[in-house]
Amino acid sequence: VARHANCRASSPLRRFLAMHTRVPRNENFSKLQGGYLFPQIAQRRREYLEKHPDAALISLGIGDTTQPIPPHICAGLTQGAKKLATKEGYSGYGDGEGLYALRKSIASRLYGDRIRPEEVFVSDGAKCDIARLQMVFGSEVTVAVQDPSYPVYVDTAVMTGQTGRINADTRQYAGIVYMRCDAANDFFPDLSKTPRTDLIFFCSPNNPTGAAATREQLAELVAFARHNGSIIVYDAAYAPFIRDPAVPRSILEIDGALECAIEVNSFSKYAGFTGVRLGWTVVPSALRFADGTPVAKDFGRVMNTAFNGASNIAQQGGMACLDDEGLAEIEQLISYYLENTRILREGMESLGFSVYGGRNAPYIWVRFPGRSSWDVFTEFLEKCQVVTVPGAGFGPAGVEYVRLSAFAPREACQEAVRRIQTAFGGRPADP
Ligand code: PLP
Repeated sequence: VARHANCRASSPLRRFLAMHTRVPRNENFSKLQGGYLFPQIAQRRREYLEKHPDAALISLGIGDTTQPIPPHICAGLTQGAKKLATKEGYSGYGDGEGLYALRKSIASRLYGDRIRPEEVFVSDGAKCDIARLQMVFGSEVTVAVQDPSYPVYVDTAVMTGQTGRINADTRQYAGIVYMRCDAANDFFPDLSKTPRTDLIFFCSPNNPTGAAATREQLAELVAFARHNGSIIVYDAAYAPFIRDPAVPRSILEIDGALECAIEVNSFSKYAGFTGVRLGWTVVPSALRFADGTPVAKDFGRVMNTAFNGASNIAQQGGMACLDDEGLAEIEQLISYYLENTRILREGMESLGFSVYGGRNAPYIWVRFPGRSSWDVFTEFLEKCQVVTVPGAGFGPAGVEYVRLSAFAPREACQEAVRRIQTAFGGRPADP
């Protein structure tokens, strides 16, 4: 009765909002925890700015690129747009798998023709491909993730129904194997203690730890997957940050990977395409399900059903990324961020913090033994006006760490280091 009375008293808009349909909610979504990490950080940042409107915040938080798209690559985008205004150059829907010329360029220029163009599926980004791969695998598969890891592997596994509920004490979902990666194991999981799963999500260079797996480590991972008949979903979104010749830029360089691995990749971090949206996934034709069906057959079906091909303008930008001039611009852009990484890494080391990553990756992973990462996040925000990312957002093993991102202007990195050095006066924050 009270509710009814309330309804009568309220505006038509409020009555509309209060109405429920009879459509049941997808139960899997009720298993998801909190908001996605980055909106949560944005909220904390907003709240801080409301209280301190004059604060000059420096964001070393969200791993979004900040530097402009280099000129030659940008010309590819503008020419792609201009072509659409001409009779001869106009194009509408393209192939769901992407422009053949771009697939060919990716295969030759980034994979040295170890793969064929037909094995490359061009997309609107790595995150979207991870979700579409989950659509292919469905709810019956078991999954393993690095702990800590990019939250999208776990969240899409939950949405797809591959997991049970989260355990409030361990912060782990039932049904997911968490492969602990921390300073004690050089940020590479102990595979001898890892149970078999159908899928293994593996990101290298890793977000958030900045660890890049060596050739030997990747060979061990491939041998493990082959032995167990598992599929590795390898996320190489940060591959161009690898400058160490002992660290492969692709898992597909490893013998035997073509029968057990998919590689997800993206122009987002290569060329500042986070807003342009262009990526690709390599599904080798030799990769097969238990019944012999090629995985590429089902992925191709999803790409043509749930996606309609990447933007033709973005794909022209992708073509420009992969010619000689474009590749040189990418190297220059990455060098800029790697120099930021060095500044942040050395700055944090100078304070005696335990610092990891940041050599073949744009992320620095800093450990605060005995402390909660959200507390450290708050301390950096309040004492230095520097926004970081609390490691707990990437998995339970991240609870004592924060991530600093080098995707920031040079001066911002220098100023952040100055502020942190001033605030912490030459010694680590006390536990
Ligand atoms: N994979 C990893 C590991 C990432 O860190 C990110 C973005 O931060 C993505 C994928 C998303 O890439 P895209 O912009 O291509 O969707």
